[in-house]
Amino acid sequence: MAVPLCAALLLGTPATAPALPAPAAAASAVVPAALPALQAGAAPATVNPLRSLAPVFTASSTSVLVNKSHPLNPLRYVPANLVNARGSGHYLRSDAAGALNTLFNAAAGAGHGLAVVSGYRSYDTQASLYNYYVQTYGQAYADTISARPGYSEHQTGLAVDIGNASGSCGLSTCFGDTPAGRWVAANAYRYGFIVRYPNGWSGTTGYSYEPWHLRYVGTTISADMRARSYPTLEHYFAGNPAAGATLKSGSDIVAVNSAGQLLRYTAATGGSYKFHSTIGSGWGNLKQAFVVDWNSDGVYDLLVQWKAGNLGFYRGRSGGGFDGLRSVGWGWADMTITVGKLHRSHKYPGVLGYKPDGVLRYYPNTSGGALGGFTSTGPGWAGRGITLADWNNDGNSDVLSQLPSGSLLYYMGNGTGGIAYPSTIGTGWQVMNYIAPAFGYAGPGTRGLLARKSDGTLHYYGFGTKAWLPRKQVGAGWGPMRIFK
Ligand SMILES: [Zn+2]
Repeated sequence: MAVPLCAALLLGTPATAPALPAPAAAASAVVPAALPALQAGAAPATVNPLRSLAPVFTASSTSVLVNKSHPLNPLRYVPANLVNARGSGHYLRSDAAGALNTLFNAAAGAGHGLAVVSGYRSYDTQASLYNYYVQTYGQAYADTISARPGYSEHQTGLAVDIGNASGSCGLSTCFGDTPAGRWVAANAYRYGFIVRYPNGWSGTTGYSYEPWHLRYVGTTISADMRARSYPTLEHYFAGNPAAGATLKSGSDIVAVNSAGQLLRYTAATGGSYKFHSTIGSGWGNLKQAFVVDWNSDGVYDLLVQWKAGNLGFYRGRSGGGFDGLRSVGWGWADMTITVGKLHRSHKYPGVLGYKPDGVLRYYPNTSGGALGGFTSTGPGWAGRGITLADWNNDGNSDVLSQLPSGSLLYYMGNGTGGIAYPSTIGTGWQVMNYIAPAFGYAGPGTRGLLARKSDGTLHYYGFGTKAWLPRKQVGAGWGPMRIFK
């Protein structure tokens, strides 16, 4: 079968298989000792992959942060070990000059001739430069293109302005569009440099786009920034991934690649999923993750289930990025779970899941953090896929369940924790090895499912009211990814 049947054909077909689990009314909460212990606030066993770093203000450090808010200390700092970079007559610290030499040689090997245009500038040099700009353009404009004395990265000996060896596009934004400029933007990180004032981030850096201004930070930071998609040093020290790494929609996909990087994919309304940003690295031990507003503050969070069994969440920040990991519970290693509101009146989404015993249980999230005692919804769920989504559009979450046989079942939720007897709403779904709800993919308020087929293609199945909308392929090549929601 090429794709799962459009289940509209099956609407109203009652499920008659006696093997189907019988749903049960919500029982009162009990927590047997064998079940996951819920330890709110316990220290997570896993290192936070979204670590944030304290900014460095030591003038002689290769990671020093110098910007319009943070001048050099002392203001008249002079670096040691200044050397004539590549005999250009412009000076850099010897470590930065050595790395720049390697970068220039690699560029030449790729067919790009580069030149050093400016390097170290002393406090006094910067003072005359800044005053010149103020007299020429006025102070407001001068401040967008020139640092005040004591506030320039060039005074650290770690910043260098470069250009085409031919001189074309010298100190102009068009340098970034030349072959050499593009090569530098793509490869500078390999040699410990960053394009310090990237396009689109002048609100963060305070400076206009300067594709020619490189800052040496060392390869540890330059590679880390790249892996985490931090566009500026300010983002790096704020522990704040690119604003693009914010989860902005319930249809965003998070996925882990073979290198253990957690990636975010988003789709323009109704479009294909495209890579957008790296959220972090070191996620190889993730069992499952969910994009959900766990604390109901209007910003999507990341709920994560680690292979070791701890469950936690990263609170999404409204300005972009995430807080550190907070524990939600322990002992979840063998749980198959999904996330959503089985109770309409509950403020926070909870966790629905089963252990190998196959008993489906709902754990309410009582505080926007840790989970409370569960209610049991019935046995017979072992080996199934489970998803919470509002299939019949009545405002209550329903349970959709994928059987190993390929049947997709719908259990109507009553909004107070109970679910009705199932009906079959699809067949042939055994070719799908990943299913998750997608909210807002086709526009605000839209509901549907994302499903990955065994050939790596990704599909969106929109919900009407108890009916499928036409299926749409929204991606391909997803086979190697461990995709989550
Ligand atoms: Zn510069």
